[in-house]
Amino acid sequence: SALHFDAVILGAGAAGLFCAAQAGQRGLKVLLIDHAEKVAEKIRISGGGRCNFTNRDLDVRAPHKHYVGQNPQFCRSALSRYTPQDFIALMERHGIPYEEKHKGQLFATTSAEDIIRMLLAECADGGVTRWQPCRVEKVVHAPADAGADTEGTGSYQIHTDRGLVRAPRLVLATGGLSIPKIGATDFGYRLAQQFQLPLIERRAGLVPLTFDGAAWQPYAQLAGLALPVEISTGSKKDRMAFLEDLLFTHRGLSGPAVLQISSYWKDGAPLHINLLPGVDVAQLLASAKLQSRKLVVNELAQHMPTRLAEAWVAQHPELQRPINEASDKALAKLADQITRWEITPTGSEGYKKAEVTLGGIDTKALSQQTMECKAQPDLYAIGEVVDITGWLGGYNFQWAWASAAACAEAMALS
Ligand code: FAD
Repeated sequence: SALHFDAVILGAGAAGLFCAAQAGQRGLKVLLIDHAEKVAEKIRISGGGRCNFTNRDLDVRAPHKHYVGQNPQFCRSALSRYTPQDFIALMERHGIPYEEKHKGQLFATTSAEDIIRMLLAECADGGVTRWQPCRVEKVVHAPADAGADTEGTGSYQIHTDRGLVRAPRLVLATGGLSIPKIGATDFGYRLAQQFQLPLIERRAGLVPLTFDGAAWQPYAQLAGLALPVEISTGSKKDRMAFLEDLLFTHRGLSGPAVLQISSYWKDGAPLHINLLPGVDVAQLLASAKLQSRKLVVNELAQHMPTRLAEAWVAQHPELQRPINEASDKALAKLADQITRWEITPTGSEGYKKAEVTLGGIDTKALSQQTMECKAQPDLYAIGEVVDITGWLGGYNFQWAWASAAACAEAMALS
């Protein structure tokens, strides 16, 4: 015989835990299922173990600015109803210390575990039943006229290794594909396909980019070096740019600048990097030429890490001399290359290193107020499984909280 719940939520990550807590506290009898042994592994490892749980700079009038997807506007309704301030208030109610870092990013001061404990306490408050590890074998939707259940639209039958469960509402909160080693699967996408929900192609996002070949050779030795840059990609019409730190790695480029741009980068397209943003490099070199007899590389090294200056000058024999002996033309060319370095990634480090998955359940199939599937009653999708991806900096968790809150509210009212 089957167990009955008002709602079953698949995936006890950020979105699933929060949705379960909210729905439970609104009076629904909720079952939360995860196949992993531990809940919320991604919260645990996020933000270097301190979870960048939201971002104060999220513009509540235009929150979609910080999100990528076929239709970033989709996230506006949920994000403007459950704001960063709402989650901050929850943290404060639980007495969890947090601090602001770079660009509005809020982190737990002590540990991401504080946030997991808070979410579990919120679930306990809502009387949520949690099953894990628990394997979902299949999900079947029995329409009302099949006499499967009493509640109007029918019911979802969730076959698990702990038995059969029935519920009138089902929530997909199984997240994206990044970091398979801690439990990411394509389960949510497969279930979406089962219910004929359209999917947007998936791709690794917030991910280091890789480079090889001759164009990369001069920089291959720079691993570990970091500096602030302006990075951009795209043509005039859809150009995206970020002012952030760049990090050279053994395989290519990383750091916040590259993670951010990776979500906008298209295969085969070049990146443009200004290695000295805000500096008039042409002017700087021209005036140094009039006043200095230092080597070009030493002049350059006053403005950027020495190894990087060396890597650039090594590519130009005509610049391997005192700056007053270098030609105007060669200096102008160097200035141009440093401020408009064009380089094309060969690929990315993939889901093994990506923080998020771009693409997912097409937002066209969902209500932006409730996260319910338009064509499949009482089936909801929240968090990263949906084609909404945030910037680096706490925006992904804020989407998880906000989409979860919208869904919980709708379920309680339905
Ligand atoms: P998840 O949190 O991934 O939860 C999905 C859950 O579903 C998991 O518990 C998983 O075990 C479960 N599941 C999967 N398949 C099945 C199945 N078949 N059956 C049952 N359960 C299943 N975002 C930020 O905003 N700030 C950060 O600081 C940040 N740091 C990050 C650092 C790293 C290294 C990574 C990988 C991501 C980071 N992110 C960060 C992104 C953020 O973690 C995710 O966007 C967020 O966790 C998505 O929430 P979710 O609930 O949709 O999915």
